[in-house]
Amino acid sequence: MIIDLSAEPGGSIPFEFETAPELDEATTRVGKPLAVRGSVRFTDGRADLEGSIEGVLSCNCTRCLTPVDRKIDLRFRDVFVAPEIFVEDAESEISGEDLDVSVIENESLDLAEIVREQILLSLPEQLLCREDCRGICPVCGGDRNSADCDCSKDEVDPRWAGLKGLKF
Ligand SMILES: [Zn+2]
Ligand SMILES: [Zn+2]
Repeated sequence: MIIDLSAEPGGSIPFEFETAPELDEATTRVGKPLAVRGSVRFTDGRADLEGSIEGVLSCNCTRCLTPVDRKIDLRFRDVFVAPEIFVEDAESEISGEDLDVSVIENESLDLAEIVREQILLSLPEQLLCREDCRGICPVCGGDRNSADCDCSKDEVDPRWAGLKGLKF
């Protein structure tokens, strides 16, 4: 969904669409398209975006890699300005608002791409299927949530395993 600002007289432009962005095939995927709605206020070369993204992502647990459904209901705000304003105001009040300001490219806003970035920004570094996920055994590769393997009886952090034989 692209909003062509050159054709807009100004004022508030509502939007509503569904999107299934490519996030990160290995860790985070979109199944059913996400619902996006919001509006753009466009005046004097500045576009203020406000919106929400709702839906379900499928994310792999950071420790055991099991896919987990993760409900999202994100609110976002973005400011875009025309290139000439971006240069003028680089050090003035726009940047002082503590909001990321981006440049309007090709006199248009690519909403699907903006939404994709917002989702990526919102993802936590660690996503666990459950608080106490025991992860994958670094020795045999087994999922330690479903079965105890024998390796876990001899708990040695693999990073230190090489030191085991050393005498101090
Ligand atoms: Zn897990
Ligand atoms: Zn094991």
